[in-house]
Amino acid sequence: MNRRAPLFVGNWKMNKNASQTRSFIEAFLPLAEKISARVDIAIAPPFTALAAAAAALAASSRVALAAQTMSEYGEGAYTGEIAASMLAEFQVSYVILGHSERRLYQHESDLAIGAKVRAALAAGMKPILAVGESLAVREEGNAVAHVLAQLEGALGELSDDRAAQVVIAYEPIWAIGTGKNCDRDQAQEIAHAIRGSRGAFAEIPILYGGSMKPENASAYLQMPDIDGGLVGGASLDPASFAALITGAVAA
Ligand code: PEP
Repeated sequence: MNRRAPLFVGNWKMNKNASQTRSFIEAFLPLAEKISARVDIAIAPPFTALAAAAAALAASSRVALAAQTMSEYGEGAYTGEIAASMLAEFQVSYVILGHSERRLYQHESDLAIGAKVRAALAAGMKPILAVGESLAVREEGNAVAHVLAQLEGALGELSDDRAAQVVIAYEPIWAIGTGKNCDRDQAQEIAHAIRGSRGAFAEIPILYGGSMKPENASAYLQMPDIDGGLVGGASLDPASFAALITGAVAA
């Protein structure tokens, strides 16, 4: 395993209400307490469960809270949106930005995602910027170029100091929720290209995401530029998420 602290983030997407969130945390915290303190762990419940999650996590600093998106704007006339300052009220430490589902269904552009990254950093949160190519782009041989263009589009205006505070998640779209996880050498190739694309990325956490499971997580963590996982389906069950992290960092 490389020298950067591993980070695992559970992206619950549109799953779990407040009481299901409390039950998850009740079961997960004792398991998480047994995982090496060197490993950073976060869960990203829906907005409506953040208050319940913050209360349930308050007794322990073992598991951090993440949001799944946020507005690029401050408070004001943006119906349905959530501002960074509102997330800070619930001790949200991380915010996932640019997830492929938001790029697809909410038509989020690299420009808007970049504005969200800057707003998150200004509010003291760590953005987890998700990037990744479609199957068509991979088959055309353009995966690296596509991912680097997404990064440039979102982070091009960011100073190096700020860019060094970002977490990047490589999530090939064709691997998300499909059970077809990306070959670890292919994931490493992209992670390596990301790291080498800018001096500021030399020590940032780069995560892999896409059908990461307890059975395959350790293979990714053995790769020199992959520092953890952005985990969807396998993060919904406390035992499965804990087993994934434990197995990944034991290798
Ligand atoms: C995700 O939604 O970020 C993700 C990687 O999902 P899954 O693990 O279910 O593929």
